[in-house]
Amino acid sequence: MLDFFFKPKTVAVIGASREPGKVGHDVLRNLLDFNFPGHIFPINPKADEILGLKAYPSILEVPEDVDLVVIAVRAPFVPEVIDQCGQKGVKAAVVLTSGFKETGLEGAKLEKKLVETARSHGIRIIGPNCLGILDTYSRLNATFAGLKPIKGEIGFFSQSGALCLAVLEWSKAEKIGLSRFVSLGNKCDVNEIECLRMLAEDPHTKVIMGYIEGITDGRAFTEVACEVAREKPVIIFKSGTTAAGARAASSHTGSLAGSEQAFEASVKRSGLIRAKTLREFFNLALYFAFMPPLAGPYLGIVTNSGGPGIVAADACENSALELPSLSSETVEKLRKVLPPYASFYNPVDITGDADAARYEKTLEVLIEDQRLNGLLVILSRTATVNPDEVAEILTKDKAQKPIVACFLGEESVKKARKKLLKGKVPHYEYPEEAVKVLEKAWLYEWWRKKPPSKVKKLKVNFKQVAETLQIVRSEGRSHLLDHEVKQILEAYGFVFPKSLVARTTDEAILAAKVIGYPVVLKVLSPQIQHKSDVGGVKVNIRDEEELIKAFEEIIINVRKRLPGISVLGVIVQEMAPKGKEVIVGFIRDPQFGPLVMFGLGGIYVEVLKDVTFRLAPLAKEEALEMIREIKAYPVLKGIRGEPEVDMDSLARAIVSMGQLAADFPELSEGEVNPLIVGPKGQKTIAVDARLSLGGEK
Ligand code: ADP
Ligand code: MG
Repeated sequence: MLDFFFKPKTVAVIGASREPGKVGHDVLRNLLDFNFPGHIFPINPKADEILGLKAYPSILEVPEDVDLVVIAVRAPFVPEVIDQCGQKGVKAAVVLTSGFKETGLEGAKLEKKLVETARSHGIRIIGPNCLGILDTYSRLNATFAGLKPIKGEIGFFSQSGALCLAVLEWSKAEKIGLSRFVSLGNKCDVNEIECLRMLAEDPHTKVIMGYIEGITDGRAFTEVACEVAREKPVIIFKSGTTAAGARAASSHTGSLAGSEQAFEASVKRSGLIRAKTLREFFNLALYFAFMPPLAGPYLGIVTNSGGPGIVAADACENSALELPSLSSETVEKLRKVLPPYASFYNPVDITGDADAARYEKTLEVLIEDQRLNGLLVILSRTATVNPDEVAEILTKDKAQKPIVACFLGEESVKKARKKLLKGKVPHYEYPEEAVKVLEKAWLYEWWRKKPPSKVKKLKVNFKQVAETLQIVRSEGRSHLLDHEVKQILEAYGFVFPKSLVARTTDEAILAAKVIGYPVVLKVLSPQIQHKSDVGGVKVNIRDEEELIKAFEEIIINVRKRLPGISVLGVIVQEMAPKGKEVIVGFIRDPQFGPLVMFGLGGIYVEVLKDVTFRLAPLAKEEALEMIREIKAYPVLKGIRGEPEVDMDSLARAIVSMGQLAADFPELSEGEVNPLIVGPKGQKTIAVDARLSLGGEK
């Protein structure tokens, strides 16, 4: 895939220059310095020879076929140059030139012209406005970066040229080689999805790193990422995720969702390894370049000082990792090699008077302990330990178990750190960083091991929803009435409490008699979104007297807080049996499509923000994962002797909400809040719901 770019036999540099410092010069220099084995043709009408190579006035004059062109002429000339490339039969062009879409409307027009010209000739484009591409195996350095890359196993793609440079420098400093490297620039043609596929297919790439700013087609990206992540670790750093879509939300789901949540939902489904900071991006890459994923969550820690060991243990406590206690056999063996005052728990504290030999003997024992999936070795500089010797030990036969190191200090451990990296042992400055990386190394493996989740369609009444929506449309409405919301959600399996509308106190008394006490009263007004905010909800009304009082209070509250608003009356509702309040909703993201939200519900949703998102539709296992993921999960499991809530029914509600969102694109957002869920055997009840049609918002 994209082989013309990465394995060309011949390359032409259009806009090649004799002046060092110019892009058209530096890229040619790099091609030569990296010993590109094929022919290189500089194109420049004003030169006969550049850097010892014969120059040609135009690509059309080149006497051989040209596989790849690298373009560095000024922006207005690029479309014409592409046209010539087309006549020449070129298949691939890297456009380094800037001055396109990134500069505004005029630039965007020029870029459109460039794309159209390329398409008409079947030429693929990387860029424009990029740093170039690199393949260390075909010895192609078509970048204008001032650094000589080293060969290795990391394939990298990036939307930012500056980040490309940062990765090149990092790779050089840490002696971690690169296989391929793509600076996507404005990605007018080749995009992140194709890069993922291309790096997945490249046999020299073992680990993929990607820096993304924007994703054009979130769904396609997720699908490809799902496939690729099964084969190779894909570490993604995405910036620009905090600016939540500025939408005037009519639901809690809407106000809590944004591009960050959508991307996170994509990551959860696809098994991408997401770095939250630039530092973590490099930390993770370092790990995966040298070590296999962690096969399980059980970590062993060795340290020669208490403090850093505790710091690491604390970090584990807040992660998906566990510090198992050591088996009695392991402890027995450790007793033979450690002084009696050492700590034989996990972390194993071999104490401040330890030397390298003590590290070695301890590691030998811990490596043999089958329960431990990986080891973290912490070293603090002391008079007795020589960090270089410990580094040496760690780089020896480390194949049996992933090991990472954390040598605390600066100057005194510099050499040892270098040694570790040279010996392919990941090293981190701080214990917390090491733990974070190991956690992600385990979560990735966990994702890889679980069978791909399959979305199974629930039996629902699709026809009913289609009919209800048809009626709304035929009446030219963009607003769904309460009974329509109920009808739609009932068709998808949600159960509502009995309720009746009452315009007067007398009607309310009658309604309550029909429904049976206790009841709930809620203000009925199409203009009120959140009823309890205005004192419009009264629960647990046990008799007529309370009912009359509640009715009056609601009317007074609403009149006071929202003077002039039209109140149609109240809804008298059956009181749902006791249970936990959760929220299940959906929203549409412009890039990632429908998203389902689940979380702790009720009136504090937006304050607590204990919610999680997935792409819709979703599998039941994903719904169960969502339930386990929220902070309030222990509450749903039941605390202080309470019974566990009906997880099955909850998962079904989440799946069915996702299905509704996927089945009816005209529904822009919706939610049930709260959905009251009790122990198994008790009906899960939707006591409040809303749905919006597209465009309404
Ligand atoms: P809103 O969200 O518009 O303020 P809700 O209908 O969600 O109004 O009611 C607010 C709160 O009142 C709910 O979170 C729930 O605690 C309680 N509640 C509402 N209806 C019922 C009901 N039928 N049974 C039990 N509790 C209810
Ligand atoms: Mg509500």
